Amino acid sequence: MRILFLGAPGAGKGTQCKKLAEKYQLPHLSSGDLLRAAVRAGTAAGKAAKEYMDKGVLVPDHVLIDMFREKLTTPECAKGFILDGFPRNVPQAESLDELLNEIHASLSVVINLHTDDELLTERITGRRSCSNKDCGAVYHVKSFPPKNDNKCDVCGSELYQRSDDRQELVESRLLTYREQTEPLIDYYTDKHLLRTVSGEGDVNEIFGHVIDTLNGKG
Ligand code: AMP
Repeated sequence: MRILFLGAPGAGKGTQCKKLAEKYQLPHLSSGDLLRAAVRAGTAAGKAAKEYMDKGVLVPDHVLIDMFREKLTTPECAKGFILDGFPRNVPQAESLDELLNEIHASLSVVINLHTDDELLTERITGRRSCSNKDCGAVYHVKSFPPKNDNKCDVCGSELYQRSDDRQELVESRLLTYREQTEPLIDYYTDKHLLRTVSGEGDVNEIFGHVIDTLNGKG
């Protein structure tokens, strides 16, 4: 299965993709996670991306396209994959189509996780992430707090707030989403690939709807 997730920042794509990756044993390719890892590692892509990420705007397309070309052509992705955060605009979607053509593959489905703006802001600003990059667990100060103050339940590492999850940047990230990413809803509707799932409510309940949708019942 080749699944693509669309949705605004804070819609819960990462959480649902992680659960799906575990259930179907598929690689989860999160553009944000890949970029943050590149920034930490100080690679050329990371250096190119950092200033854009710090402003909450999109990193230049070629950085992402090169990154995903490298990933999607690995044997690990031959049996399928879950894309999270890429593509994020129409030119990236067109490049993905070309790339998939080259490897004789196509997307099975595009899941659009829909959530209201107010909830998105609350989810983003309350998000706390595990500082251990091999863990990457994500919490929320109100709806999913860690058991011990500011420590990861899974590995015990310190939690932190992503610099782009601060209130000041949320508006700009949501605007970027509206202007550049939302047109992908029409792009994939036209290709008869889009299925919309509500991103509101309990994580497991949403996951149930995602699974039903993948099984053709949603
Ligand atoms: P995320 O973790 O998906 O919210 O992404 C964090 C930041 O990484 C975004 O605000 C962008 O600056 C950058 N980013 C992630 N995915 C993309 C993409 N497909 N195209 C351009 N920039 C991206």
